[in-house]
Order: sequence, then structure tokens, then C-alpha cells
Amino acid sequence: MELSRIALNDMGTQGRMFSVSDERIWTAPLKEYQVSCRIAEPVRAEVLVLPQEDGCLVRGTLKGVVAMPCDRCMEETLVTLDLRFDEFERYPAAGNLDAGEDGIRADILERSVIEMEGGASFLNLEALLWEEFSLALPVKPLCRPDCRGLCPVCGKNLNEGPCGCSADEGDPRLAVLRQLKVKR
Ligand SMILES: [Zn+2]
Ligand SMILES: [Zn+2]
Repeated sequence: MELSRIALNDMGTQGRMFSVSDERIWTAPLKEYQVSCRIAEPVRAEVLVLPQEDGCLVRGTLKGVVAMPCDRCMEETLVTLDLRFDEFERYPAAGNLDAGEDGIRADILERSVIEMEGGASFLNLEALLWEEFSLALPVKPLCRPDCRGLCPVCGKNLNEGPCGCSADEGDPRLAVLRQLKVKR
């Protein structure tokens, strides 16, 4: 079954469970958007898709481990993903049908993961899962909360010990103070 195009109309009232482990759902957009992140341990999603009258309930979990560079020292850092999500995706045309002067609203609504075609509706589960995945990635991952980062002068990873540079050499304001001291 094509996960980017799940037909919602012929799904029963119980909905349907999907077990998703296709790596391309994450790796393709990671590459496309040039995100520094690789899959370290398989990322899997268990999802219940439950069509409703005016939209579709998408509820599930997403688990896995990814590796990203630490925001301070650039060392590869493991990030565990373990999230639950519970989304309601409204059918895009539903707002339009009875909208009248409200029709303009459709333009400002964000891109929907549900596509209407004739009387049928299709859910792009791949796009929805990518959204959940990318929102769960930390903006500034740290290898550890107290990461010391890189020396701004020589670039050494300060987690591995101090570098040869004196601590204040990197700050020109302090360098000026030091010179004053010498003159005295
Ligand atoms: Zn670090
Ligand atoms: Zn240094």
C-alpha cells in the first residue's frame, strides 16, 4: 500500500493500524532539506488512521534513535525519539462546501495532508509522519548539558581538556585590559 496515498473512503469505522518502518520516509526529506541528522537506530511508527465525518483522526507513536551534531562541539550526538501524537486532519474541501463568503479561508489554511479527488479522500501518511518526526528533532542538540564546546581561538574540543590558549585570549576586551596591566 502506498503510504503517501491512503484511501480513506473504503476504510471501516474501526479505522486501520499502520506499522511504518520504511526509512525513506525520514531519509529522503532529511537529505532534501539538508538536515544534519542520520538514522542511528531504526525509526518506527505505529499509527491508527480513523476516518471521521469531517476529517480523519491520526493517532500513534514514533520511536527511534537519530544522530545529530552537538550544537556546541559538533561531536555526533544520539537523540532518542519517543513521541505520541494525536492529530485531527480536517478534510480540506469541508470548509469550502458550506463556506460561501468563507471560501477565501481555504487559501490561508496550511497545506493539508489530505487530498480530495472527486468524492474520495486520500491521506498522505508519509508527509504527516515526516512532520511529526521533524518537529521532534531538537533545534540545538547537546552531547551533554554542560558541553564546553570548541575553543573559539584554536578550535579544540574543550570536553577533551583545556587547550594551550589562555582563557581570556579569545576576548579582545580582556586583551586590552591585560595590556594596560603590563604598562603599569
Ligand atoms: Zn558537545
Ligand atoms: Zn584554544
